[in-house]
Amino acid sequence: MIKGTVLDTIKKQKPLAKKIREGKLRIIPLGGLEEIGRNLTIFEFEKNGGKEAIIIDMGLGYPETENMLGVDYTIPNFEYLEKIKNNILAIFITHGHYDHIGAIPYILEKIDNPPIYATPLTKGLILKRQEDFPHAIKPTIIEIKKEEYKPIKLGSFLIDYFHVNHNIPDSIGFYIQTPACNIMHSGDFKIDFNPVFDKPADLSRIVKLAFRGTDILMIDSTNAPEPGHIISERKIMENLEEIFKKAKGRIIASTFASLIERIQQLIYLAEQYGRKIVIDGHTMKINVEVTKRLGYLKYSKGIFIKPEESFKLPQNKVLIICTGSQAEEGSALMRIANGEHKFFKIIPGDSLIFSSSIVPGNERIVQNLKDSLAKQGAKIYHYQMMDIHASGHAFADDIKLFINLVKPNYIIPIHGHYYMMKALEDIAFDLGMEKDRVFILSNGDVLEVENGIPRISNIKVPSNLVYVDGLGLGNVGDVVLRDRKALAEEGMFVIIVTIDSQTGKIKKSPDIISRGFVYLRESKELLKEVRGLIAQIVKKNTLHLGDEAPIIQEEQIKFRIKEDVAEFLFKKTHRRPVILPVVIKV
Ligand SMILES: [Zn+2]
Ligand SMILES: [Zn+2]
Repeated sequence: MIKGTVLDTIKKQKPLAKKIREGKLRIIPLGGLEEIGRNLTIFEFEKNGGKEAIIIDMGLGYPETENMLGVDYTIPNFEYLEKIKNNILAIFITHGHYDHIGAIPYILEKIDNPPIYATPLTKGLILKRQEDFPHAIKPTIIEIKKEEYKPIKLGSFLIDYFHVNHNIPDSIGFYIQTPACNIMHSGDFKIDFNPVFDKPADLSRIVKLAFRGTDILMIDSTNAPEPGHIISERKIMENLEEIFKKAKGRIIASTFASLIERIQQLIYLAEQYGRKIVIDGHTMKINVEVTKRLGYLKYSKGIFIKPEESFKLPQNKVLIICTGSQAEEGSALMRIANGEHKFFKIIPGDSLIFSSSIVPGNERIVQNLKDSLAKQGAKIYHYQMMDIHASGHAFADDIKLFINLVKPNYIIPIHGHYYMMKALEDIAFDLGMEKDRVFILSNGDVLEVENGIPRISNIKVPSNLVYVDGLGLGNVGDVVLRDRKALAEEGMFVIIVTIDSQTGKIKKSPDIISRGFVYLRESKELLKEVRGLIAQIVKKNTLHLGDEAPIIQEEQIKFRIKEDVAEFLFKKTHRRPVILPVVIKV
């Protein structure tokens, strides 16, 4: 239906003047393909031997298998970026999710700190994350004002941007013009005609840019396998409101901390129905704090209360927004369910909202969590029972609409596993696109565009996973080898620190497990000193801000434990065991 109407309208427009094309553009995805995470794409323009490059997004990914023990996350391989660092003009960021900004603290320094262009909320989130890396280079961030639509001219690049809907405010896509070709990059997007706290995606802007002639559309394929249109946030809000109307006890809503829009909807409903709000969970607190500070969260004064204060109110005046919708270990909701939470346990009559989808692989533990909560007397609402969650990514028909508005010559599906990119390819074929016009790329592929025609080069750039644990960087292969060697020769030392997230203090003396290093019973003195050292590290890296629960800089603590304990043990024993710090917040 859309296919006919929109396409026809566009066809009636004047054909584009034939352009004179110069040079070559290389599109090089270093991450984000055949995976959800690690989004990073290089656009490298070459003319007469001179090269210029820009980068879109710089994200992290999470370890995909349990075999990657000790790996906190993965980032794109930056070998090629280091090589071309003198040509990099700038980095452009689509939005503030970690799969788009998370690798910045690691890579920025390696490429001599080029400027970063980002919208205000994205900028705030980048800077907030940077606080966890006190030694990392300070980024220079240039704010993109969405409403102004001022094109950015950098070397041979002309970059425009447009507003899209996603589940975090201030998300944008980019339109990149070079003498070789024009490219539209959708960013993570959905099209919501009735968003609750946002404007609808700026379709007219997208069409205007597209009229310059789009050679290649790079488009979010995450939900390409989902038929139809994505449900509007307005509908989600109506369904959530039904729960608020009915609930006689407390409402406990769990969602991802990154779903700022959902959090905003819950705050709004709490205000409408006279409930005060407790925010619980580390990342949730941080995100609410940042968005509040930057003015992206609308709330009335005094709406947020401390956990203790909630007990002075009638139960039907309380809303708890917390992490744990994936049954993540140690998350607020898990602690509530297990009776380990400092303040909350389930009170019969509580309404429990799971407002997020289940990450594949988590189904069973989420089911167990729901059972446990229900047994304790909570009423469970999940998105499978009613629409109380919408994804941040466009469904098939929304993708069709976008493609039809842009009418590109070629399409590159991005941001998805292989089958998602294939599903997007099918959509393009359905719309009448020819077979050789969709490029399913892999990370590290080099797509060369000359005279408006792309082809995959024989050359590939390194794109294997670079893994990060604590604050350290390494190549999986290298690190595994290094660790194996050290394990064999020097033994290992596992340090488990349990920190009370309310007080920021170590709960009990840290557990130390050692294999092949020293016989622990004979090294009481040594262990005592190690424990003292750990206590100091935790103290130094925990920030106390007034009455709020302290901010525990987990990554920094792990990093310091590794470094400082290693140094200490070497001084005392002249050996270098592998040190594995584990920080548990309860
Ligand atoms: Zn996103
Ligand atoms: Zn993403």
